[in-house]
Amino acid sequence: MDPLKICFLSSEVVPFAKTGGLADVSGALAKYLDREGHDIRVFMPLYSSIDTSLSEFHAVDFIQNVTIPFGDFSLNFSLVTAKMPDSNASVYFIHCDGLYDRGSIYTNDGDEYLRFALMTRAALESCQRMGWAPDIMHCNDWQSALAPLYLKTLYSWDGLFARTRSILTIHNIGYQGIFGWDKLQPLGINDYRQMLPSEDLDAGIINYMKIGLLHADLITTVSDTYAKEIQTSEYGAGMEGLLQHRRDRLLGIVNGVDYAEWSPESDVHIPYNYSIDDLSGKEKNKKALLEKMGLPYQEGTPVCGIVSRLTGQKGFELLHESLFEILATKDIQFVVLGSGEEKYANFFRQAQAHFPRKMVFFDGYNVGLSHLIEAGSDMFLMPSRYEPCGLNQIYSLKYGTVPIVRKTGGLADTVDFYHWESQEGTGFVFEHFNADSVKWAISHAIETYKNRDAWTKLMKAGMEKNFSWDVQVKKYIDLYNWLAS
Ligand code: ADP
Repeated sequence: MDPLKICFLSSEVVPFAKTGGLADVSGALAKYLDREGHDIRVFMPLYSSIDTSLSEFHAVDFIQNVTIPFGDFSLNFSLVTAKMPDSNASVYFIHCDGLYDRGSIYTNDGDEYLRFALMTRAALESCQRMGWAPDIMHCNDWQSALAPLYLKTLYSWDGLFARTRSILTIHNIGYQGIFGWDKLQPLGINDYRQMLPSEDLDAGIINYMKIGLLHADLITTVSDTYAKEIQTSEYGAGMEGLLQHRRDRLLGIVNGVDYAEWSPESDVHIPYNYSIDDLSGKEKNKKALLEKMGLPYQEGTPVCGIVSRLTGQKGFELLHESLFEILATKDIQFVVLGSGEEKYANFFRQAQAHFPRKMVFFDGYNVGLSHLIEAGSDMFLMPSRYEPCGLNQIYSLKYGTVPIVRKTGGLADTVDFYHWESQEGTGFVFEHFNADSVKWAISHAIETYKNRDAWTKLMKAGMEKNFSWDVQVKKYIDLYNWLAS
């Protein structure tokens, strides 16, 4: 097969900018596609927060000060490029004064629609100026979801894109990019209203994700179960009808993991490396974690880790009704790392204040600590309300840190229910979104932990699982080839 030309649009890419799993996926997929010999070019904004010492950054001299009209006004962008660290994959950063020098990657500012419309259009304009005809335009989430429509409208005149096929990957249907209809004019799609969802026009809104779902040649999401769930009203966030309609163009591919980053044998963030054949480092990491977090180490007491964005999606409401009881009655310690909504942070702070020897909460975003929690915890809790794929449960498996998860989305696809009698499975899986179910799962884990042999077997069953990008990237390549043929 000939190498494919893949234009990959993402609002966050590891190691340059990250708020969640989208960044991990974008960074890893780029690296692995390059390794497989494909011409992958990633486009993302040049946020002011990007650390330019991560790679060598160069201006692309023939793509400087390019003007893009947005209705009554226009914006200029310039292109800067760098290689992904440890890879030959090229990342193109869209530099635009004023749009990307904000305090965070995402904002609630009035020009949020424009920040990512520019990213999308700048990618297309750059392809033109490079004379580079992508076989695949791979869009990710709402931020780049206008690209399929742009290919059919503003850029349809250009033969360069005649064979370009578009994919939209849904990493989280909960975020759709919904703005007022007055943006149609600056976005340049006012003359194409017949291609937009009429109910949105009637409601006076424009929904980037929905437009992408309507026009992409193929829709993927990040697990099989999530692909099914989002066709239901419970999980579809209003997109279920459209997704049912397009179900023959919708499929799930579970995210891979970059084991170069996330593997206890070689993790550079943890004090003691360990492996399935020599687990001795794990207990040492546990001691190091507890010491760092100011909790006493008690032999035989399991530590349960949490690393998460603090949002409604992650299901921490369930802990509001159960955590205090668990901490009061069970022999367990919790180490929680999270950032996000204050109400959840407050709750974890209160739990720490009540149970200072059993519970610690670190409010913030900290990559090193997230690795140490994976390595130093015995179990890892993800009670998500919904979870498109989820990465931390997959990292947990590799670190012998037994996941306790709700059976939804990628959690359902990656963690196998542990059967007490047969001692088969890789984690504790509960189905119903209620406090009793999470209490049941945590209690079950604590009980199992007391049986050292059973527990070690359970740890090893998880460590043996392989969710490497080596495997998952081939599924994307097959899709790309199928679409491009
Ligand atoms: P989501 O994309 O919904 O946030 P995922 O499980 O797919 O969830 O990915 C989350 C990623 O972000 C993981 O790599 C996780 O380790 C990381 N992460 C989340 N919160 C934090 C935090 N507070 N500090 C460090 N890393 C975090």
